[in-house]
Amino acid sequence: MKINIADKSYKIEKAVATLLEALIYIKENIEPNLGFDYGCKSGVCGACSVRVNGKEKLACSYKPKEEDTIEPLKYYPQKRDLIVDKSSQKELIKRVKAHIINYKEETLSPQDELKTQIQSDCILCSSCYSACPVIEINPQFAGPFALTKSYKYTIDNREANQKEHIDAIQNSGVWDCTLCNECTLACPQGIDPKSDIVSLRNISAKHGYTDPNFNTMNFGGGFGFDPNGGF
Ligand code: SF4
Ligand code: SF4
Repeated sequence: MKINIADKSYKIEKAVATLLEALIYIKENIEPNLGFDYGCKSGVCGACSVRVNGKEKLACSYKPKEEDTIEPLKYYPQKRDLIVDKSSQKELIKRVKAHIINYKEETLSPQDELKTQIQSDCILCSSCYSACPVIEINPQFAGPFALTKSYKYTIDNREANQKEHIDAIQNSGVWDCTLCNECTLACPQGIDPKSDIVSLRNISAKHGYTDPNFNTMNFGGGFGFDPNGGF
């Protein structure tokens, strides 16, 4: 089987169950300097995420196919080959205040814990981030994993100041998403960042925020729409 990385084609001359096994084979037998990240080899650490034929995959979970093209994740600085610098993840999470800000004593029921159990499964692989088309045109956009984490803490009963969470996601945040669903499709953990963003919009509305894109639409111009026309 052949797989392609950058402008090179590599022949894997043994049966491999995962893309990660193929990358390790290449490193051990063909290209000792090939750069790629991995950690747990079992889909838990999120380190080995790459793009395969343009779609984000964990190398340790994906079974490679003939002539697959492997590329690094998008939007992060490329360090070498398939290795990217994901250090900006921390900044994004910090910016949206994805943590308890004002702790209040509260016992969480099993139902409370279930509400954000899936978001807690995020392994920070950044597949969702790489899949998000908005970051291409607006690199300031907080992006899906940061907003999913924001949601987890926004609805946490132990948070005494929900508004501060909501305030933190108004600029280049919750309203910049196009709801395209690419992040949800890319997530290997079954997390649904798009739905979390919709929920954050609803909570934002309860705190008095509205979609700034809607506010700036010019209904009076060009399309024949009369804002006083009976709607
Ligand atoms: S749904 Fe929103 S956050 Fe997710 S990929 Fe699309 S634009 Fe990005
Ligand atoms: S939300 Fe899913 S795709 Fe995004 S970083 Fe977390 S585990 Fe990865």
